[in-house]
Amino acid sequence: MTLRRIAQLGEPVLRKAARPLAVDELGTREMQRLVSDMIDTMRDADGAGLAAPQIYESVQIAVIELRENPRYPDVPSIPLRVLINPKVTPLVAFEAGVLAAQDAIQVYEGCLSVAGLRGMVRRPRKVRVNALDMEGNPQEFSCEGFPAAVVQHELDHLHGILYVDRADPRSLAFLREYERYVPPNGRVVDGGAQNSG
Ligand code: ZN
Repeated sequence: MTLRRIAQLGEPVLRKAARPLAVDELGTREMQRLVSDMIDTMRDADGAGLAAPQIYESVQIAVIELRENPRYPDVPSIPLRVLINPKVTPLVAFEAGVLAAQDAIQVYEGCLSVAGLRGMVRRPRKVRVNALDMEGNPQEFSCEGFPAAVVQHELDHLHGILYVDRADPRSLAFLREYERYVPPNGRVVDGGAQNSG
């Protein structure tokens, strides 16, 4: 197991657009090692996802996984996915940045590259993802609710965007204050979840 150092807010690599990978770069030993290091680093840090720029590799790879996660109790699990050159398409009306309440999910996001901070971000609650897998095969899936927010957060990293760019600045809170003042039922608010309590 190899843990990589996680770049922190202010590192220029976090602000660069990552390079897409060519199909013949996939399946190489270096690429397999990089993905394996990303998975180890994400799991060790209890992250729900990790993008390659976060470990100083400016290429378009993201991994996501949500098992029992102390950082996000009471949210659905997400099986491990390795996304190469991913693209995300909202599956709700999202024109000119306008998002109706029932089409939005609001999550107090955190980021392994912005240690100790949380902030509320509003995003489309349902998206389609197109990407390549480790063998270069196309994969397509859609997700909604919390997993959709996780995917969009990770894919933003590949374009040099951090969640703090999208967060309501007045919602920003350090972890201790977040835990003290943001009630559990205000941490993930899914406008499309009709019957959730
Ligand atoms: Zn992040």
